Amino acid sequence: MNTHPPISERARRLMAETVVWDAHSCLPIKAGVDCSDLARHRASGIDYVSINVGMDFNPVGQISRVIATFRAFILSRPEDYALVGTVEEVKAAKKAGKLAVSFDLEGSDMLEGDLDMLRFYRDLGVRQMHLAYNRDNAVGGGCHGADIGLTEFGRKVVAEINRLGILMDCSHTGYRTSMDVMAMSTKPVVFSHANPRALRDHGRNIRDDQIDACARTGGVVGINGIGIFLGKDDNSTETVLRHIDYVTQRIGAKHVGIGLDFVFRRGADENPPGFEPSLWWPPQHNYVGRSNFVEPERMPVLAEGMVKLGYDDGAIRGILGDNFLRVAAATWPA
Ligand SMILES: [Zn+2]
Repeated sequence: MNTHPPISERARRLMAETVVWDAHSCLPIKAGVDCSDLARHRASGIDYVSINVGMDFNPVGQISRVIATFRAFILSRPEDYALVGTVEEVKAAKKAGKLAVSFDLEGSDMLEGDLDMLRFYRDLGVRQMHLAYNRDNAVGGGCHGADIGLTEFGRKVVAEINRLGILMDCSHTGYRTSMDVMAMSTKPVVFSHANPRALRDHGRNIRDDQIDACARTGGVVGINGIGIFLGKDDNSTETVLRHIDYVTQRIGAKHVGIGLDFVFRRGADENPPGFEPSLWWPPQHNYVGRSNFVEPERMPVLAEGMVKLGYDDGAIRGILGDNFLRVAAATWPA
């Protein structure tokens, strides 16, 4: 366990005043799994988390069962959790001391070429979605793919995501496709969990012009807490703050957030039959072995770190959650 510096009164107050937002974390993609680990987010002062319900390699049947499991867990514990679909519901959950949860999808193969599936997932609680998970697909390029652009079908998917009020995410997406998405999206585009490549040259990280384009849409770059995307498997608070500060200096604090990408219960037997890990997580990109993570308990420590960086209250509140709340308000259904 890390030893953390004491949290100042100011950092505590900022955590309490802000809807603290984790733009992406992961429970096992497994039907029937116990979701009680989510209590760690709530105990850490986090008010909202987007939980992944499927990636491009998960079949629709598996994703549907996982959504059923997560919904049942949340909806059967109304005193502790709220399944939210609007910003008003997020704020009400915080006020009531509950953890607000909605879902995200990592990729678009689960649409099976059918735009109507977007409404289906939206109506089940999906509020954020990116188009490709590391590899190319029918919609566009993945970040470890051949850097194809957004396809004709991909353009229809982006338009429908905009229309339905789902947050348009470009994490895991290839360079060209992400730039195409940001050029055509009518709503702010986020990178819910991606780090600047200028600090860590990894294919999953994003270039300066992607960061700039994200800000031009009014979007937010969520700093990712996985060690191999931060540095040489470096999950230290100092390094996370360096990534936060890099993006803040480049595009302004209004366009920075946090997407911890914390993986609960690593090693859960969750992958579908025939799953080929080296295809989705190519070993040449250092996916081998187990990475270090920034755990949810670190959120107040990051708030304290931003105080030490000399950020003003508005900047810290923005990065802790106000910025993602702003893009959600501009995107999600009212
Ligand atoms: Zn991810």
